[in-house]
Amino acid sequence: MNMVQQPNDIRDIIEADRAHVWHHLLQHKPLETNDPRIFVEGRGMRLWDATGREFLDALSGGVWTVNVGFGRVSIANAVRDQLVKLNYFANSAGSIAGAEFARKLISKMPGLTRVYYSNSGSEANEKVFKMVRQIAHRHHGGRKYKILYRERDYHGTTIGTLAAAGQPQRREQYGPMPPGFVEVPHCLEYRSQYGAIDNYGERAAEAIEEVILREGPDTIGLLCLEPVTAGGGVIVPPAGYWQKVGEICRKYDILLHIDEVVCGVGRTGMWFGYQNFGIEPDFVTMAKGVASGYAAISCTATTEKIFDLFKDDPEDPMSHFRDISTFGGCVAGPAAALENMRIIEDEGLLDNTLQMGARLIANLEDLSERHAVIGNVRGAGLFCGAELVADRQTKEPVPEKLVQAVIANCAAQGVLIGATNRSLHGLNNTLCLAPALIATEQDIDQITDAIGTALTTVFG
Ligand code: PMP
Repeated sequence: MNMVQQPNDIRDIIEADRAHVWHHLLQHKPLETNDPRIFVEGRGMRLWDATGREFLDALSGGVWTVNVGFGRVSIANAVRDQLVKLNYFANSAGSIAGAEFARKLISKMPGLTRVYYSNSGSEANEKVFKMVRQIAHRHHGGRKYKILYRERDYHGTTIGTLAAAGQPQRREQYGPMPPGFVEVPHCLEYRSQYGAIDNYGERAAEAIEEVILREGPDTIGLLCLEPVTAGGGVIVPPAGYWQKVGEICRKYDILLHIDEVVCGVGRTGMWFGYQNFGIEPDFVTMAKGVASGYAAISCTATTEKIFDLFKDDPEDPMSHFRDISTFGGCVAGPAAALENMRIIEDEGLLDNTLQMGARLIANLEDLSERHAVIGNVRGAGLFCGAELVADRQTKEPVPEKLVQAVIANCAAQGVLIGATNRSLHGLNNTLCLAPALIATEQDIDQITDAIGTALTTVFG
């Protein structure tokens, strides 16, 4: 049903887009002959495009962002009220919403005490890298500057965070990269590097230790990991992994940074993904779900111990964290984030995420009994992946064009789903699902029914 008013001048808008908008990640050639998709309105889990077509969005705004769903008037009102009162002042001064949200956020993260505001996931991660480099200079005689990142993880689009991308094609043609970034192996048991072993989790963590010993522990300041790898394949680390990772960080005095840009604020059914695994991080970064896309805000949270390392030395003008994020001072961000968190609490969305996530996994497993092309189903909360393989024995990935055909077929049925990132060198064969935390049983079933139909159409 077409519920929204379509703009009268839609051809004019489409031509303006075609002529002037440079879209993310897209090759634009097809847009010369096909119309770009322009969304006009969203409500709850549903979107309407400029032609009036309705879609069920299983991706929370394409990149796992709109956790509380579209059309939240109470967030719009909170932002409006804030903007007319005070829209901005640089974060060298405080704001009421900034202070209140920091306190609220910290109340969900035992052990952490400080929040640094910026406005994108990449930027929040860059802050950690800069803090670690400064700590190395000030407290380790310049050593401990290296940053470890994991194969298949992703941390952002700036040159610094690209240097920490475990998806090598992302870096291609953007070099040279800054030095001091070192990769550790992935932890996807389905594609075990060590054959079929009982203690894959521990073994995958030991692989990190091997890199540390090779590089020299006194040169390494940070281990940066996604709690559940997102675009790299929806990888939930295996049992035993996180405990061992924590031990390794303590043993070699390496700070642990958990990138919660995707998992943060409810996605896995806990406030933060790391809270599923009993980890004690030194840094947690978050962005997408913090304000569900109603305002641009990201946060770098850390401990009092780290904060104290930047304590003012009156004799030394270089002692504090000499960083600024202009738009970290936009007060709409924390105002939206406070209301976003209230909604998650008052509507019981963490519980709903666990229940609907279990249903999504069960439905996908059910599909895998009927479709041999599904080699592996995995996920945490409302964040799930189904890896498509040409052969369950060899686990050979299906070709990318067939993955894209499944996605296109779902879209033709009015359901938006995605896949792992194209920069994974032939391993971009995992269907990705991250519906909003408000999803109902009907929504979940509609998503998996569409996938079932698409798999039958594409693979028979
Ligand atoms: N970290 C992770 C895990 C992400 O998935 C992303 C974005 N997809 C980022 C960081 C970068 O966030 P942004 O695009 O807001 O800079």
